[in-house]
Amino acid sequence: MAHPYHHALSSARLWGGVPEDYLSLHSWFDQSKLIIADYRHRALRHHAEGIFMLEQMYGTTRRLSTGRIIPTRWIGEQHVREDLGRIPSFADWVRAIRPEPWMGRATTLRFEDAPRGGRA
Ligand SMILES: [Zn+2]
Repeated sequence: MAHPYHHALSSARLWGGVPEDYLSLHSWFDQSKLIIADYRHRALRHHAEGIFMLEQMYGTTRRLSTGRIIPTRWIGEQHVREDLGRIPSFADWVRAIRPEPWMGRATTLRFEDAPRGGRA
């Protein structure tokens, strides 16, 4: 798996500046390694919505140390393409999840049992 620093090096080659101009954004993408240590961690942020979440987190544009301003989404698109070869939608990831009974198990909600004005 590519390290965020290597993605940042790639960004600097593409748009100028230094890896540190990009490292926090690439690290945000890969923070999901905290919860799963193999490539499945990518299901959390490596998709089209994840790229838009990056934009919401870091703003529409990024000012580089050179003064150049680039769209934040360019950086997200680069990261996802370098890891996956394309930009999937979240639906692509969901199709790969095998449904299990516990995922749809519902219980009666307590408020439905409570009489009006009574204790829940
Ligand atoms: Zn990644």
